[in-house]
Amino acid sequence: MDLGISGKRALVCASSKGLGRGCAEMLAANGVNLVMNARGAEALEKAAEDIRAAHGVEVIAIAADITTEEGRAKVLAAAGDVDILVNNAGGPPPGSWQDWEREDFIKALDANMLTPIALMKALMPGMMARGWGRVVNITSQSVKAPIAVLGLSNSARAGLTGYVAGTSRQVAGKGVIINNLLPGIHATDRAVSLDTAAATQNGITLEEAMDRRAATIPAGRYGTAEEFGATCAFLCSQYAGYMVGQNILLDGGSTNATL
Ligand code: NAP
Repeated sequence: MDLGISGKRALVCASSKGLGRGCAEMLAANGVNLVMNARGAEALEKAAEDIRAAHGVEVIAIAADITTEEGRAKVLAAAGDVDILVNNAGGPPPGSWQDWEREDFIKALDANMLTPIALMKALMPGMMARGWGRVVNITSQSVKAPIAVLGLSNSARAGLTGYVAGTSRQVAGKGVIINNLLPGIHATDRAVSLDTAAATQNGITLEEAMDRRAATIPAGRYGTAEEFGATCAFLCSQYAGYMVGQNILLDGGSTNATL
């Protein structure tokens, strides 16, 4: 299937590794030119080079912390007009409700709610003026069903979800389509860090923690960045134009719900 986005330009935030990388890779495979971002320059340059070599698209790599105002300014200046925006950043650390202070919440809100909102505000006017745009926000399954130790994530991502629910309906008439993609557990560095915390807490090895978690997933395994990226590419395609403000769960069946 031709997704109809060859020659478009995408900003994919936090994309040197993991789910962001999976999205960048699949967009590039469909002929989309990229602006990639991450904080660590070395891994980012390597990822950009690999994608250029594999897919023959233009890739601009901007090393910056996307959760800071300076970082966003740097990325936006280099990105210019983009047709597609994939919002992503590292997730907040696990912990307990008794320990989180105001500053912890401000940090989580900045990273996982206010950063994607700022980028949408900066880039959607251009998309609307050109009559076409796609935004995918990488959030989490914790939006549908809370993960208690990730209370900072639950809170920040719920705020973004509420914002998208209203805003997506205000911009759809101008050809700009916003949807959220909700990962369940995927085999990335983030999963290793969460499993390491679970292993320490339960006095078991990392491998045991991973096996235990995989056993709770109906699909019986972790998701892959490739599967995740392919769904993202579809949400950025010409065919996603009638899909407005949805929350698409990719969790191997983990969230036990009828709807
Ligand atoms: P990951 O494997 O740790 O990769 C994170 C990527 O984002 C890296 O390229 C990292 O590069 C970059 N990054 C992190 N913070 C950044 C920042 N402030 N500015 C710019 N780039 C940044 O994580 P992932 O598994 O792909 O997770 C992506 C998002 O999905 C996270 O918000 C995570 O909480 C959420 N999520 C993941 C899972 C899962 O199972 N993997 C499940 C639910 C939700 P640098 O470190 O060099 O900046």
